[in-house]
Amino acid sequence: QEAHAAELERTFIAIKPDGVQRGLVAEIVSRFERKGYKLVAVKLVIPSKDFAEKHYHDLKERPFFSGLCDFLSSGPVLAMVWEGEGVIKYGRKLIGATDPQKSEPGTIRGDLAVVVGRNIIHGSDGPETAKDEINLWFKPEELVSYTSNAEKWVY
Ligand code: ADP
Ligand code: MG
Repeated sequence: QEAHAAELERTFIAIKPDGVQRGLVAEIVSRFERKGYKLVAVKLVIPSKDFAEKHYHDLKERPFFSGLCDFLSSGPVLAMVWEGEGVIKYGRKLIGATDPQKSEPGTIRGDLAVVVGRNIIHGSDGPETAKDEINLWFKPEELVSYTSNAEKWVY
């Protein structure tokens, strides 16, 4: 199964400053781990506003853009790359709808957040953005290549 493992997709997931401040890091990481996804990169960073604007460049016409970028750069963000079959789409499913009021119970935002401006977590919304966001937040050498013991039981 070595060749298969090399082809597994990757997504960028970040716990926003509200999630870090509320002590939800372990809870959120644990949900991705228990599902069977593999952590391949992680770091805690306070992004500059300029960096936050790069991350959210698709939203620059939206009225909440500036506030959103101020918020993302207001404290530590736990930036991560997760790997596994279907992780981009299913990661979004684990996260739930953008507005926590519309997120199902059982999802991260549904269980742990209340309002859209404080929805605690980011996840890439497709293969292209996943690639772009991983490249924006991480250097290639920060992505760790290893075999996890769980792999042969998950796949
Ligand atoms: P998602 O994070 O689910 O991919 P979007 O990419 O549409 O959602 O928006 C990025 C982030 O912008 C959201 O996670 C949320 O923090 C913020 N946001 C989205 N819509 C609003 C809104 N109407 N008011 C305030 N903040 C918003
Ligand atoms: Mg988005």
